[in-house]
Amino acid sequence: MSRLVVISNRVPMPEKNGTAPAGGLAVALQAALEERGGVWMGWSGKSSGTKEPAPLALTERGNITYALTDLTSTDVEEYYHGFANRVLWPICHYRLDLAEYGRKEMAGYFRVNRFFAHRVAPLIQEDDVLWIHDYHLIPLAAELRQMGFKNKIGFFLHIPWPPADVLFAMPVHEEIMRGLTHYDVVGFQTDHDLENFRGCLVREGFGNAVGEGLYSSHGRTFKGGFYSIGIETAAFAEFAKRAASTTMVRKARQSLEGRDLIIGVDRLDYSKGITQRIDAYESLVSHNPAYQGKVTYLQITPKSRSEVPEYEAMQRTVAEQAGRVNGALGTVDWVPIRYINRSIGRPVLAGLYRLAKVGLVTPLRDGMNLVAKEFVAAQDPEDPGVLVLSRFAGAARELNGALLVNPYDIEGTGHAIARALTMGKEERIQRWRGMMDHLLVHDVKRWCDDFLVDLTSEGDHAALAT
Ligand code: UDP
Repeated sequence: MSRLVVISNRVPMPEKNGTAPAGGLAVALQAALEERGGVWMGWSGKSSGTKEPAPLALTERGNITYALTDLTSTDVEEYYHGFANRVLWPICHYRLDLAEYGRKEMAGYFRVNRFFAHRVAPLIQEDDVLWIHDYHLIPLAAELRQMGFKNKIGFFLHIPWPPADVLFAMPVHEEIMRGLTHYDVVGFQTDHDLENFRGCLVREGFGNAVGEGLYSSHGRTFKGGFYSIGIETAAFAEFAKRAASTTMVRKARQSLEGRDLIIGVDRLDYSKGITQRIDAYESLVSHNPAYQGKVTYLQITPKSRSEVPEYEAMQRTVAEQAGRVNGALGTVDWVPIRYINRSIGRPVLAGLYRLAKVGLVTPLRDGMNLVAKEFVAAQDPEDPGVLVLSRFAGAARELNGALLVNPYDIEGTGHAIARALTMGKEERIQRWRGMMDHLLVHDVKRWCDDFLVDLTSEGDHAALAT
């Protein structure tokens, strides 16, 4: 079995005591690395200021080597805050209006990818299989190929891939498209993302679909597939069951005083549809006095990317909106929305999901959305809550027991929340069972295995390359 080299923007370092950091992706990739031996390389999250970054910091844990590099402050600004988060992120979430193209940032993105290639190169052995993650590092394979590496290289995009008319608004779309054709396997979250990619490739003549999931471009053949990322379903379910009896969750239950809990958990990001969701809740409660004083909506929203102006503005907008709704609808003994603007640890989160009658996951666009899957896994099989899910989340392609909504349709989403609150137990159990069975089979380990099987399979597509 070949060694594995994983490269991603950030690296989830294991704790000093050896336990893996939270998050299914980290656990699954660490397990794959553990099995095969290998390297996980990425940015340390630190800036070296104006100085050239120090050599890679290497940490050995079992048969995994973690390799971290700092970046200069200019690199962080141009590559990370700049092109990755101000161009690729909005474009891939269909937000042409928010993309800010700057030549400097675009150049910085490609420069840092070249820098990553040079840093990781000495760690790569001849038979290693490389797996590169996410939108920060699309051109990395092209850089490595130029340096002469012939290894199998796979790429997985964790966020959506947009249709051609959206992507092509980006001045460097050709370089980005060409970058993808240097991989052996290009993986997306859903069939829709893959369809969009195929449209981008074929329409502008970057390549051709040659059948059986294979694409050809500039004399290379590669596979394009979709691999929907999962969670550690069984472990998370067990975790939630235990979490339900912790002090924090008990306190939360008591504080509800018998009211039904509706929960939303999202990073503060314009793609998550938080303001539309608060509008939907307000519309439901203000038009249906029967719900007044009877439900509590808990929105947990850790801050993110505060360096990007849109995120900073959103921070204020959401806080003001929650305050306005509470001011307008609240009573001396009832607060309609509880808004928490910081991160909550996963053990408490798991217990809160289980306590909730309704999980509200209504992004305007999302690659997958793990909160939706965690909410399902956390439910009590005897009395499960209902998931209200945006049709524009990748998870909607799998979770067909959810109540699917169009998050732009405020009243429609309000009606779905009402339907979820009043759904009978039999229907809730039936909807939940189907989703849970699916998630137990399609967990994060399965995702990892499926991708690696395609990347490492014998008699493969790379051999087709001319
Ligand atoms: N999360 C967390 N604490 C919080 C909020 C979120 O641990 O306060 C976790 C959540 O459990 C999930 C992840 O962050 O595993 C969010 O993943 P998702 O795919 O839903 O969205 P992303 O933030 O990656 O866009």
